[in-house]
Amino acid sequence: MSATATDEPVALLTQNASEPLLGFLMKTEVRSTLAAPVMVGKERWGEIDFEDCRQERIWTASEIDALKLLTEMIGAAIGRANELREFADIRWVIENSPVILYRIGGKPPFPMNFVSRNVSRYGYDAKELLESPGRYLDLFHPDDRSDVMANIGGIASGRLGGEVRRERRLRAADGRYIWFEDRTRGHYGPQQELIEIEGLLFDISDRKAAEARLEQVSLSDPVTGLPNRKAFMAELDRAYAAARLGGPAFAIHYIDLDRFKDINDVFGHSKGDELLKAVADRLLRLRRRSADVIARFGGDEFVVLQSQITDAADAGALAARLLKAIEEPFNLGIEIHTTASIGIAVFSAEVAGTEEMIKQVDLALYRAKDLGRNQFHFHSEALDAATIERVTLGGDLQRALDRGELQLNYQPQVEIASGRIVGFEALARWNHPRQGPIGPARFVPIAEANGTIHRLGRWLIDAVCQQISEWRRAGLQPPPVSFNVSGGQLRGTAEFDRELAERLKHWSIGPKSIEVELTETVLMETTQRHREIIGRLYSLGVPIAIDDFGTGYSSLSYLRTYRVDHIKVAQEFIKDIRPGSGDIAIVRAAISLGRELGIPVIAEGVETQFQLDLVKEAGCRFVQGFYFSPPVSASSAADLLRAGALWPGGPASRHG
Ligand code: C2E
Ligand code: MG
Ligand code: MG
Repeated sequence: MSATATDEPVALLTQNASEPLLGFLMKTEVRSTLAAPVMVGKERWGEIDFEDCRQERIWTASEIDALKLLTEMIGAAIGRANELREFADIRWVIENSPVILYRIGGKPPFPMNFVSRNVSRYGYDAKELLESPGRYLDLFHPDDRSDVMANIGGIASGRLGGEVRRERRLRAADGRYIWFEDRTRGHYGPQQELIEIEGLLFDISDRKAAEARLEQVSLSDPVTGLPNRKAFMAELDRAYAAARLGGPAFAIHYIDLDRFKDINDVFGHSKGDELLKAVADRLLRLRRRSADVIARFGGDEFVVLQSQITDAADAGALAARLLKAIEEPFNLGIEIHTTASIGIAVFSAEVAGTEEMIKQVDLALYRAKDLGRNQFHFHSEALDAATIERVTLGGDLQRALDRGELQLNYQPQVEIASGRIVGFEALARWNHPRQGPIGPARFVPIAEANGTIHRLGRWLIDAVCQQISEWRRAGLQPPPVSFNVSGGQLRGTAEFDRELAERLKHWSIGPKSIEVELTETVLMETTQRHREIIGRLYSLGVPIAIDDFGTGYSSLSYLRTYRVDHIKVAQEFIKDIRPGSGDIAIVRAAISLGRELGIPVIAEGVETQFQLDLVKEAGCRFVQGFYFSPPVSASSAADLLRAGALWPGGPASRHG
């Protein structure tokens, strides 16, 4: 029951009151009332009454003012209390909301002055963060930092006005990166100088995750879960652009199951889908690099992006493995047999773009189908032929080592003046069961490409050591036997010297009984690490010859670093040697260089008396060439040793 109706105080004798107040006052025996409303802001909160029950009191002006003052004070106090509660509520909301507030000072180095305590949600303590006010930049993802700085700079210069919104990753204390929307706004002073930047960070990780899932769905094939054509093309574009800029080459394999339609017809579509899934699993199992992409283009077509290939043979080798994997029967409740055809396109700088590559690979697949299925074809016939040879020979080579199809021949190195055999070069031969003899020029590159070179190299060392032992047991004193070491042998492993030392020990053969031939090109290609290997070979005491001298761009400095034991002038300079030609000049230069440094020079590939005369005239003392002897079997080499000396035209010419 209130006596006041407006925000003004009311002084009232009960007898003058009207109902229902009158009844109430009579009942409570109040005879006189002074009432004043308590206003909180513009709202009426309540009322304070002074009441006299003894007399009909007339309230003085000062009593009325005092009550008015009192109600105003109470109203103000309540208003303030409400405000405080509201603030507390806001604070509560902030501390519990996912939105983080922060403020950054307006002058470089733009320190963080405030951050709301709810950063604790991400494992940080606000107070601690503020102790190192420059640290906040480190919390942004490295890829986002420069943009954060650009943003601050833009706001500071006034270039970025209003609210700036960016999506960024921030690192939580546990190391995870979390996506936020960062909304910032500058506060400026009267001179338009930046005072402060206020920022709000909204956690958008859920949205980002949803987007990623959506992206995943739109980029993947529902049956197999593999990337779809769209996703594949994006990866292909990336690989192509990288290769264009000098990155690694790559190949595309376009795989089509042979007669998949029949499988669908005979076993039903759900079995067909199961088969596609199983094929996808097998393809995935053959994936070797995370950069390789295996996708389904729809129907029974799969595509593989093979990253980082060195040459077409790599692609051929993978295609052969893919075919083999698909050929294995699938056990899907029932056993299903299928095969595939594969078209291959290899990146080359001449291809105009990825669409062109897809066209190429499509044609190649068409050829593979046309030529009888269950095979692969390249987009070019020349590549086909070369690669098929490499792939098949590569496989054969693995077996050749097991079956002892490789053999060593020995070619003498002769001192011209005395006919004395000063060395033998061991040269590998492969007696291929179907193709006949194959020279190292053909199989060494294949061995390098498929990694067999390491086994080949080990085999070679053992074969040389064994031969030396055998000759010794037969009472002969063989000269040092040299053998060739290819770049691939040194590249793949840092163990070459260790292995060599170990095998020499095994066969009880001293380091001076052998010699390692390294071409100039190999020397040039070797990185620092491999150079160390050469240095270690040197410190093992194993002699080193520089092979094919003059064909590489060698820096002659290694001749000083590693005092090599022989320089072998490449046969291409001997082949066309004529008086006054450039070739003879190279031979002369090599010989005077050798003389200067005290390194004996061997002329390779001397086939005629004419060539012999010229190299002799140029000052060369040693030769290796058909004119003295071609590479011969171990037993023929033993005969040469027994004969003691070797004369032009071979041993026969001297003895008749
Ligand atoms: P290379 O080390 O320069 O070997 C000399 C090559 O010249 C040998 O060929 C030899 O048969 C040939 N030759 C020798 N005298 C004459 C001649 O008067 N006229 C002509 N036209 N040729 C002559 P081969 O055996 O075919 O070897 C070719 C290359 O293959 C070798 O060149 C060497 O770099 C490499 N090679 C040979 N065997 C091996 C091996 O076991 N391992 C490695 N990594 N490479 C090897
Ligand atoms: Mg050689
Ligand atoms: Mg040579």
